[in-house]
Order: sequence, then C-alpha cells, then structure tokens
Amino acid sequence: MSEQGTSHLLPTYARVDLAFERGEGVWLVATNGERYLDFTSGVAVNALGHAHPRLIAAISEQAQKLIHVSNLYRIPEAERLAARLCAASFADFVFFANSGAEAMEGAIKMARKYHSANGHPERYRIITFDGAFHGRTLATLAAGGQKKYLDGFGPVVEGFDQVPFGDLDAVRGAITPETAAILIEPIMGEGGVRVVPPEFLRALRQICDQHGLLLVFDEVQTGMGRAGELFAYQRVGVAPDIMALAKALGGGFPMGAVLATGEAAKGMTAGTHGSTFGGNPLAMAAGNAVLDVMLADGFFDRVKRLSLLFKQKLAAIKDRYPSVISEVRGEGLLLGLRAVVPSGELVDALRAEKMITVAAGDNVVRLLPPLIVTEGEVADAAQRIERACEQLANKHAQALTQGAAG
Ligand SMILES: *Cc1c(COP(=O)(O)O)cnc(C)c1O
Repeated sequence: MSEQGTSHLLPTYARVDLAFERGEGVWLVATNGERYLDFTSGVAVNALGHAHPRLIAAISEQAQKLIHVSNLYRIPEAERLAARLCAASFADFVFFANSGAEAMEGAIKMARKYHSANGHPERYRIITFDGAFHGRTLATLAAGGQKKYLDGFGPVVEGFDQVPFGDLDAVRGAITPETAAILIEPIMGEGGVRVVPPEFLRALRQICDQHGLLLVFDEVQTGMGRAGELFAYQRVGVAPDIMALAKALGGGFPMGAVLATGEAAKGMTAGTHGSTFGGNPLAMAAGNAVLDVMLADGFFDRVKRLSLLFKQKLAAIKDRYPSVISEVRGEGLLLGLRAVVPSGELVDALRAEKMITVAAGDNVVRLLPPLIVTEGEVADAAQRIERACEQLANKHAQALTQGAAG
C-alpha cells in the first residue's frame, strides 16, 4: 500500500515505496516482513550495522542519566571523545556539530577565521573541485558548486573557486592573494566514488605549505573506518589542517565534528562559533561507543581484508557482465560499480534481489555495507549482484535484438 500520495513530508525525496521496522547487523526487516541485505548503511552511517549491542547499551545508559545540558557547562563525555579523536588523528581540537553540512560549515568558517586572526581578513576564498559534495546548507552548496542543487535558492554564497577534478595546474592557477584554503574529499563519495590519487593529495599538501593555505579534508563519508583506516587520509599519509566528520561518527546517532590543529584553530576563540545540540552527552555516548568498537584490535585489518575479497568478486562479475558494469571503484568498504546501464536500473534490480544500495554521480552504484559485515554476507551480496547483472544483461540484449528486428 502506498501512502506517499497522502504524506505530509515535504516531497524533497523521491522515496522508494518501502519501509523498514527493524534491523539486525547487516540485515533490515521491512514492515511486510521481508529481509533485505543492507549495503547502504543509511548512506555510510550505520558502520556498526543495526542494533549493535554496544551502541544500544551506551545510548540507553546515557539516556537514563542525562541527554542534554548545553555547552554552557563542561561535558566530560565530549572531552573524552575529543581527546580520543585527537589521539587517533593529526588534530589538537574538536568542535562537535550535528551533521555533515554543519561540520563543513564549521570547517569553512575556521579556515576563514584563521587568516583573519593572522591579519588577513581578505583571504577568505576556498578552492574546491568539480563534482564535490559538501552538504546542503547555503555555504556548503556553494562549496560543492553543483548547479542542480543551487538553482532557485538565490545568490550563491561568495568565496568558492571550483577547479576540475584532478587538475593540479588549475589548482595552482586558481590561487590568488585572497585564497584561504583548499577543500577536498579524499574519495569523492556522492560524486561517484572517485578516489583521489595519493600523489595528488601530496601535491595539494605541498601547494598549501608553499602558499600558507590550509588543507581541509571533507571526511564526512570517508572517515570513521569506511575507507579501511579510521580516516582516509591515513591511507595516504597526507594530513590536513582541518577535517570534517559526520555520517558514521555516531553509528546512526546524528552527529558531526570539525577536527583541527591548534594552529588552524587559533581564530576560534570563545564566542566565535557554537551549536545548541552539538556534543551533547547522548551523542557523545554514541560516538564513544563507535570508537570502542573501531579501535579494538584488528577492526580495520578486517575491513581491508573484506574489501579485497569483495573487490575480487566484483571484478569477476564486471568481467562476466561488461554490458552492465564497466568499472569497480573505491577503497575499503566505500565501493562503487560504474554502470553501463542507467545506475538506477541496477539499484532497482538489486532491490528486487532484496539487497539495497545507493546511486551516486557518474552513473555509479555505491556499495556501503556496515563495516561489521562478514565474509559470508559479502559472498551473499556478490551472488545477488551477479543475479541482478544477469537479469539486466538479458533485458538489454533483448531490447537490442528487438531494436535490430524492428
Ligand atoms: C553526506 C555528506 C555531507 C553532508 O552531510 P549531512 O549530514 O547530510 O549534512 C558532506 N560531505 C560529504 C563528503 C558527505 O558525504
């Protein structure tokens, strides 16, 4: 039964007519009782899968003590999570927010404020890349620069200079005395699982150091283990000055964070930024529980091993169905299938096989299983993908024959 026609939700999403009522690990159970293999993870959010006992316990215990107090007081759970994130990264300071876009807004403000605090308020422009996605607020939309999202929403926030993806000369050419920072996702998620080559990130670091620019990584999607390390930059060994996190940070509880070096954060003094909800005790309990699981011995080794296994299976499927898939992309468990058929058809065919995935730009279907996925579930997923490909290959072959006959 469809209730979409009578829904009072603002129709900004073209929703699939399917609702889930519970989940267990990598599985989602629909309201009609059908079980789906979840290779979306709520768009790279549910890193621990559904109903993870550690996360449930942390949230329920904290909810019974204290949910929210405001940032007018010290929040020990937030101090603890910030200390752990800093110990595990390049950062000295953390600001907690509630979403990826809000974390990115904080990162953008921080980069601008840094130069202002250094006596250069004119240095506020940020270089970003075509096809990037940084969120849906006015500033983060301007940073992403995608026309389809900006259209109709009035003047575009000033101060972002887009250059083509992977073009170092264009980056150098875009630098002016007003440039404050370079902003990039180490792996473009929404933009089609495009992996930025390590040498490109290294070159950006060099350019930033040369010109006194800040390097800002948007790790909202790549961070928290998704790319096979706690943070994707650690794969490459190029540390940013500022980094935004969100999605998997709370394992499903909404939260985001801006991480920064002491130098980059030096403009952010008392009163310069804030958030009512950011860093509240309930969110912090969730974040600490996620880290408990991820920082346990061998967690990322497992993610990397399963990634390799999955990529091998996907490469074999791609070879068998070249009329459906042209390329396997990604790192860790942020993987993408570049489709030959429209990516939406592949997503639909997979859903018919009771496996849910999510489309991205560049005609790519993202495969984002919870990081706790098992070898057996990866094999199960590969079989479902194989069946969906077979079905699409036949369908398109038939359409071709009919076209030729007609
Ligand atoms: C999802 C995403 C965002 C926006 O996060 P929201 O929580 O939806 O605001 C920003 N940057 C990247 C790279 C993302 O993947």
